[in-house]
Amino acid sequence: MVDKKADILIVDDEEVIREMLKTLLMREGYNVTAAENGAAGIDQIRKAFFNIAIVDIKLTDMSGMEVMTKIREVHPETIVLMVTAYATTETAIKALEAGVYDYIIKPFDINRIKMIIKRGVEEQRLSIENRELLASLKVEKDKLESVLEIGKMMSSILNLNELITFIVRKTTEVLQAQKGSLMLLDEDTGNLIIRGAIGLSTEVLNSTPVKIGDKIAGWVAKQGEPLLVMNIETDPRVKRTNREHYHGKSFISIPLINKDKIHGVLNIADKKDPGQGIFTLDDLNYISIIVNQAAIAIENAQLYTEVTRLAITDALTGLFNQRYFQDHLVNEINRAKRYGRPLSLVMFDIDNFKKYNDQYGHLTGDSILRNIGAILKNNAREVDIACRYGGEEFMMILPETDSAGAMAIAEKIRDAVFTCDQREKALEHVGKITVSGGIAQYEKKLEKENFIHRTDQAMYQAKKEGKNKICIWQ
Ligand code: GH3
Ligand code: MG
Ligand code: MG
Repeated sequence: MVDKKADILIVDDEEVIREMLKTLLMREGYNVTAAENGAAGIDQIRKAFFNIAIVDIKLTDMSGMEVMTKIREVHPETIVLMVTAYATTETAIKALEAGVYDYIIKPFDINRIKMIIKRGVEEQRLSIENRELLASLKVEKDKLESVLEIGKMMSSILNLNELITFIVRKTTEVLQAQKGSLMLLDEDTGNLIIRGAIGLSTEVLNSTPVKIGDKIAGWVAKQGEPLLVMNIETDPRVKRTNREHYHGKSFISIPLINKDKIHGVLNIADKKDPGQGIFTLDDLNYISIIVNQAAIAIENAQLYTEVTRLAITDALTGLFNQRYFQDHLVNEINRAKRYGRPLSLVMFDIDNFKKYNDQYGHLTGDSILRNIGAILKNNAREVDIACRYGGEEFMMILPETDSAGAMAIAEKIRDAVFTCDQREKALEHVGKITVSGGIAQYEKKLEKENFIHRTDQAMYQAKKEGKNKICIWQ
């Protein structure tokens, strides 16, 4: 179908021809403008875009070719038809070579003119459509590529904090937002806690955790559906009390869900100006794909963290296990060596543990182990490492501590076990439980194995001296 709205410019100095073409084309439904010479034609071109320009090859003030050159400069899309009185192939070919779409020979064949214009308008429409399509395809392709790239990056980050930072940075970047936060669901409390953010005030960062169902993020987590708000002032879903947190009018809040399980909520706000800072449905769709991948990546990172934790934890007491103890001791020895700082080891062994086991059974024995593990944990400082070393033997690595300092800590623990202050209720019937301990302080050139052996020897000294006692290696 001919686009009846196409605009046509006629540049011809012969009034009869101008008028004849104008009448003919207007009858066909085109919008027609006429110019009586080259200068007037160029004037029109500068003012508006014409789909088609019909230009006489010989004008009074310039050649039709000059007019065409001007058109090419200003509107490369415009289709130019050259009107020529003598149909020599030579001029026609020259004109075509110079970029003329077609030529019209005087005297006119009206049907040919109609046909050429119809075809030209249609081809032009298609070419413009194609170009726009290509441009939007390019945008889509770039988006898809960045989604793939971001997905690949996310799945390669196993450290949860690093991953969270990456997700917030990338999602705010692709949506050109100035604010973003990632909240993760704390399974124990059912609260959403901000774990990473960009552009948030410390006030917001330190604000109390959000309960599922509360506020906007809590609502999104509860519904399990994203929220795109274009105008917070008019959107009925945004309560007046929640509006103060936003500078811009528009925000996106989207749940992180994997296999029907909610992991958290991503909030994006304050879009940089283009589009008056309003997020679009396109933005939401785009970010949804990334967020879906983010949910999987977060689950993997959490799983990885948990597996790593389990690998270094003793299942019964929750203390570190022997494997972690050995690795960590190597690091601490190196540090003590490098900086010449004190470092001590304490070994505890439960006194007469066999007796409790035999008398009250293995389960009670296990409870005692758990209880003593808890006492160790309670009395360890932030930097100390408490481990279950073997069956009923425990080790503590005490950095920045000499044997006297270690003695103070070990005594405190021995006393806590002895006085039953921190005894589990279930163990009341067992009566007194005591531990013996040995201490060794690290000395230059001491091998790790010998270092451990010295604490062991000191501990046996304590046993020999009657138990419920701490000895320092001499
Ligand atoms: P001492 O005062 O000389 O240390 O005497 P003890 O009876 O504590 O010493 P011994 O090393 O001979 O006995 C340790 C016992 O600890 C042997 C074992 O039955 C028990 N045991 C080791 N690991 C576990 C455990 O994981 N759970 C329980 N319930 N018992 C354990
Ligand atoms: Mg033992
Ligand atoms: Mg023992």
